[in-house]
Amino acid sequence: MTTCWVPGADGSPYGVQTLPYGAFRRGGGGERRLGVRIADFVLDLRGAEDADLILAGGALCEPTLNAFLALGRAQWTTVRRRIVELLTEPEHRAAVEPLLVPLSEVDLVLPFAVGDYVDFYSSEQHASNVGQIFRPGQPLLTPNWRHLPIGYHGRAGTVVVSGTPIVRPSGQRRSTDGPVFGPSRRLDIEAEVGFVVGVPTALGDPVPTDRFADHVFGVTLVNDWSARDIQAWEYQPLGPFLGKSFATSVGPWVVPLEALDHAWVPAPAQDPPVLPYLAESSRRGLDLSIVVEWNGTRVSEPPFAGMYWTPAQQLAHLTVNGASLRTGDLYASGTVSGARRDQVGSFLELTWGGTEPVKLDDGSERTFLEDGDTVVITATAPGPAGTTIGFGEVTGTVVSTLRNR
Ligand code: CA
Repeated sequence: MTTCWVPGADGSPYGVQTLPYGAFRRGGGGERRLGVRIADFVLDLRGAEDADLILAGGALCEPTLNAFLALGRAQWTTVRRRIVELLTEPEHRAAVEPLLVPLSEVDLVLPFAVGDYVDFYSSEQHASNVGQIFRPGQPLLTPNWRHLPIGYHGRAGTVVVSGTPIVRPSGQRRSTDGPVFGPSRRLDIEAEVGFVVGVPTALGDPVPTDRFADHVFGVTLVNDWSARDIQAWEYQPLGPFLGKSFATSVGPWVVPLEALDHAWVPAPAQDPPVLPYLAESSRRGLDLSIVVEWNGTRVSEPPFAGMYWTPAQQLAHLTVNGASLRTGDLYASGTVSGARRDQVGSFLELTWGGTEPVKLDDGSERTFLEDGDTVVITATAPGPAGTTIGFGEVTGTVVSTLRNR
């Protein structure tokens, strides 16, 4: 593996094999700047482009990644190679070292302006579990589930960066005396993996499965906060609405696809066969190992590799009707759940609809989230030559409603 001159980089999940993109402010405010994480530092990309150390047509001097995302794969690869050169070749050290800012001195902000947000439902285990909990006595999967990656359009304006406090939503929920209004009593998480679109498309121009890498820039962690009581009452017949739209947290780092060449694994076989537009010459999923911590207790380790629908199929499906893509569009996998109870990506499943509380390390018991609770989701993937790719974390703390009603 290439040796990096940055202290702590070699052997780190944030060595030169990873180089995720983000945006930051220096502590206490200041302007938004783009950066790349290396070890426990952020390389100031604006500073690097201003000094002509990297040439990206000014895209790295912008406050969000969007202009860079729009450049496309050839430019993404060129810039990444240049960053690797700058961080590994000793002759660049004197010029680049002043552009490294310790992570402890920055606030990480939302790295890209979110275009449209689509959320899928692509884990067979998750869909089956939710079917059992929400629709007992009925078939686990709806008749369409194996024929198309089910999804819905979410609310882009409430996608927030990791660390943003999550205000407990209020809404209608069912009771034996009819619907009542109030703060959600069944606030939950959904551990997901998000895909960030770089290159847009024209209206009426679907993206085939084999063009995935031409349009998708990279991958970020997602926590799709969900109010199960609001959701259960509102979701039929049109799907998720206020039970989901109050907040969706994303990680501060977007890991470029180039970092994930060694993380692709064969995706599960599909039965029955899919329609031609969803077929793939080689079905590939990403071998991300996700960890969910609830108030510091590791409660689950969802495996992403087993997802039934792949990100390439999701992109093909969401554009097959001619819907166009915009730079900054985000689509998320849906809750990632494996076969075992300690592999599920939601607390709905972990506590089986709230009927089987979990015990945290501090001795307390939980079914759903309480005010003050913090959830941290992290992930890693295999990198080249035995290295590890780190995705950072997406974290959020639940706070009570801000206003008295
Ligand atoms: Ca979701």
